[in-house]
Amino acid sequence: GIHVAWKEFNKSKVYMADLESGLHYLLRVELASHKTLEGEELKTFKDFVTVVAKLFPGRQPVVKLLETLLEWLISLPIAHIPYDAILDLVNNKMRISGMFLTNKIDWVGCQGSQPELRGYPCSLWLLFHTLTVQAAERPDALANTGLEDNPQAVLQTMRKYITTFFGCQECGRHFEEMAKESMNQVNTADESVLWLWKKHNIVNNRLAGALSEDPMFPKTSWPTPDLCPACHEEVDGLHTWNEKEVLAFLKRHYVFSNMSPKYTA
Ligand code: FAD
Repeated sequence: GIHVAWKEFNKSKVYMADLESGLHYLLRVELASHKTLEGEELKTFKDFVTVVAKLFPGRQPVVKLLETLLEWLISLPIAHIPYDAILDLVNNKMRISGMFLTNKIDWVGCQGSQPELRGYPCSLWLLFHTLTVQAAERPDALANTGLEDNPQAVLQTMRKYITTFFGCQECGRHFEEMAKESMNQVNTADESVLWLWKKHNIVNNRLAGALSEDPMFPKTSWPTPDLCPACHEEVDGLHTWNEKEVLAFLKRHYVFSNMSPKYTA
């Protein structure tokens, strides 16, 4: 196989290279199998771009690209958008200055011990955890988008993205089951941060030991005690989570100040 050099990384950081590689993959690979976007698919994609353009705590050229993509999608009077037009914009064929998204993949915190392990699905989790945290930290960010005043905005957008576009259809079905069960009970932006954290741990526990697991990255409940000692408590000899501490930890972890630019293009 192709040899990719191992990249040293720190588990307590989020790597911008993972988030940007994930956005590159989403826009240039995953979306490419949908030759035209229309109807519900188009609405789902527009909501996704709205949420990332407004909330992604990225580097300036990436944010500018997402904002330009959003403005363009909003301004288009047509109900069918050819994927190639989206690709031209993402590739910046119009040479708008200061706008750029990497067109290669550099997994860092998401690198796998084998090329088929980890990578994109890992980056998608990181992206949506980041977006739920940003929505909680910046309550006005979605003003005038049609998504404001909805504490479930990021989660519902993720739900629709996953069931409509995510290449792993089995993942989509599992996620939809969890969403149906309890997503509509989320009442605040903080609750949405914790909802996603909790569901991700359910997925981790379900997949522990599965073929898709990278033996170098065994699936466990997260954050582990080394990352957040205060998140863990013992009550009557049983492990419990201190959710107040978990929320505070997630808000320290999935923010720009904890994102490393190392290995970005
Ligand atoms: P991931 O689970 O991808 O986690 C990425 C990083 O997120 C971790 O390294 C850690 O830093 C952080 N993290 C871990 N847990 C949490 C948490 N609870 N809260 C916040 N941050 C956390 N694969 C299947 O085989 N079957 C499925 O049904 C399935 N469903 C999926 C549903 C969704 C919505 C997504 C995005 C992925 C799904 N996957 C599924 C893929 C699977 O969950 C992993 O993404 C993949 O196996 C890679 O695992 P990983 O070791 O990189 O860690």
